Amino acid sequence: MTIRNKRDLFEIGGTSIAPGKTADIALPISDLSAGMQANLEIRVFHGRRAGPIIFVSAAIHGDEIIGTEIIRRVMKKLKPSRMAGTIIFVPVVNMFGFITHSRYLPDRRDLNRSFPGTERGSLASQLANMFFTEVIERCTFGIDIHSAALHRYNLPQIRIASGNSNLKELALEFGAPVVIEAPLRPGSLRAVAKEAGVEMLLMEAGEALRFDEFSVLTGVNGILRVLKKLDMIETKRLGKKAAPSAQTTKTSWLRSTKGGTCRLTAPSGTKVHEGDIVAIVSDIFGDEEEEVHAPFDGIVIGHSNLPVANQGDALLHIAQVKQFDGVDERVEQIEDALFNEPLLDEDEVI
Ligand SMILES: [Zn+2]
Repeated sequence: MTIRNKRDLFEIGGTSIAPGKTADIALPISDLSAGMQANLEIRVFHGRRAGPIIFVSAAIHGDEIIGTEIIRRVMKKLKPSRMAGTIIFVPVVNMFGFITHSRYLPDRRDLNRSFPGTERGSLASQLANMFFTEVIERCTFGIDIHSAALHRYNLPQIRIASGNSNLKELALEFGAPVVIEAPLRPGSLRAVAKEAGVEMLLMEAGEALRFDEFSVLTGVNGILRVLKKLDMIETKRLGKKAAPSAQTTKTSWLRSTKGGTCRLTAPSGTKVHEGDIVAIVSDIFGDEEEEVHAPFDGIVIGHSNLPVANQGDALLHIAQVKQFDGVDERVEQIEDALFNEPLLDEDEVI
């Protein structure tokens, strides 16, 4: 008699998921003041075949909702019966901030400075602990999606810990316009995940409390590309491969030198040379104007959407780019590839 090598059930939050199936699980977080229960809502795709366990999460900052939409669209394209490995999707990590349109928790803490958290700590600490122990620690890899803060826009970009060639390969495979290698902030999800041996891509794209199609499509395409690279899905095609991402290790925020109103002359995606005028700030009568100049050659990766600026307010975020040629063409090509090549249909993920 031959014994078939059967793939295990995936156990999470007291639920067992059979290979080739999905399940929705509500992990209890907290009793709310008015008596309702707050849960961490997750959906697990447990592939029929063996493979890595990964997570895709969004809205750790409750108003950074672009990833919630990206996850919704990615899930529509996947069938666990055709997948290898297991994906834990968390469309909203900070459900408290999500319902109040806020970056923070009701205790005014920043969840992304509260990891790994503790079972009996603050509300933020308890949520961080549940997300970390039930989701992150079970995985070997994950993608966490953020947007810019309120009134700011981020050109889609991938941020990774520096000095990890495997991670860099996945970051480049994602195909966002820019890949940034940078040190990790203490208490952030990426910092504690790294200590636990979980590799992570952080996607930044778009604006808080808004959806924009360029950011959403970059995210959906990027995640599918990474899943293919990890041999978790097979696809016939994944849109045209756009020009490679620009790579950088140094970024700098340019701040307003005076109060007034600001006109940006180089919004996100623009290639700039050292000394170029990137913004002009005027007083409210328009009598005095000050130019803001690019400190180095690079690409604008974020900007303020709010033209009212106090002295010291951040106006533009610029990444220094070593391979400078073709940076703006790259963004254009990525836009072209995203909008002119239809995303793969469900049937094309096999
Ligand atoms: Zn964020």
